[in-house]
Amino acid sequence: MEKEPIIIGRGLIEKKEELKKIINEERDSALAPFEGELQKNERLLLFIDFINYILKKEFNFLGLEKEWENVDYQQVHLLSSETFEKKFPGRKDTGGACNRFGNYMIITTKKENDNDFDAFKTLIHELLHLKARKSFGVNEEGEYYTSRQGLSVDKIVDTNRQPFLGPIDEGFVDFLTEYLIDKYKDEIDNKLAFKDMEPYHSNRAFWRACQYPTIFIVEKIINKISNAKKVKKEEIISLFEKNYFAGNLLPVIKEIVNCCGGKSLEVLKKISFDDFSRGYSDEFHLFLNYFDESTDEKKRKEIENKLGIIFEGLDN
Ligand SMILES: [Zn+2]
Repeated sequence: MEKEPIIIGRGLIEKKEELKKIINEERDSALAPFEGELQKNERLLLFIDFINYILKKEFNFLGLEKEWENVDYQQVHLLSSETFEKKFPGRKDTGGACNRFGNYMIITTKKENDNDFDAFKTLIHELLHLKARKSFGVNEEGEYYTSRQGLSVDKIVDTNRQPFLGPIDEGFVDFLTEYLIDKYKDEIDNKLAFKDMEPYHSNRAFWRACQYPTIFIVEKIINKISNAKKVKKEEIISLFEKNYFAGNLLPVIKEIVNCCGGKSLEVLKKISFDDFSRGYSDEFHLFLNYFDESTDEKKRKEIENKLGIIFEGLDN
């Protein structure tokens, strides 16, 4: 059983109790099959078991064993694209989705999931969202918001306001998906024996081109921190991973600001979800360059200028 939802914010206590009740009800009802839901086959159940197994290992490795809870089969809903679009009008079926309030995930029969390995990858991605530490809030106006999920912060429900670090959270989820597939390669081969995993190993560039472009920014940030601190990349990945699951953003932010520049958070704030559809626009290259290993303080300031980030204090 999932723990009680965490509710924060400046709203009235009654409003917070009301939100807790709404979330708990949503979570209970989301355990029942959705209308038109397809039956999960043995292979899909095996994937869920396997991902539970590796994520539990990760939680132990990161010292988060007390936080671990298995994902139940009922939290994973298999829908056809048509049913998905009927249930969530106006939402594009991207093969998978995770609902923060309801604490469930969806995998669809979209073409992208036709391949055995691709379906597995979608499942890891969405399960990582599901296992991210979440908290919710009520503000002074009585509006509900998702306060935290993984590395992303503050999203007012039903508005278009973008969550801070939301795109970085998505990039990190893709980065972590790839990292875990590599880390558990032998066990994946032994227990799941994919026949269609070859393109993943042999053409990583192609595989990566299909992920959120912020995966490259996340990678650059992790490399930059590990080089600046002269520690192994894995150590920094673990720091991000632990705080993604535990919901402590501060240690991550501290390292980014220390190693990538005092204005780096301002730069990250400028990345919007729209950049995904624009892919590798000129502006996106500015972001990539900003966090590149070769970028020095002078070049950083040039990029900050181009992005319209105002300097405080004196330049020297
Ligand atoms: Zn995602």
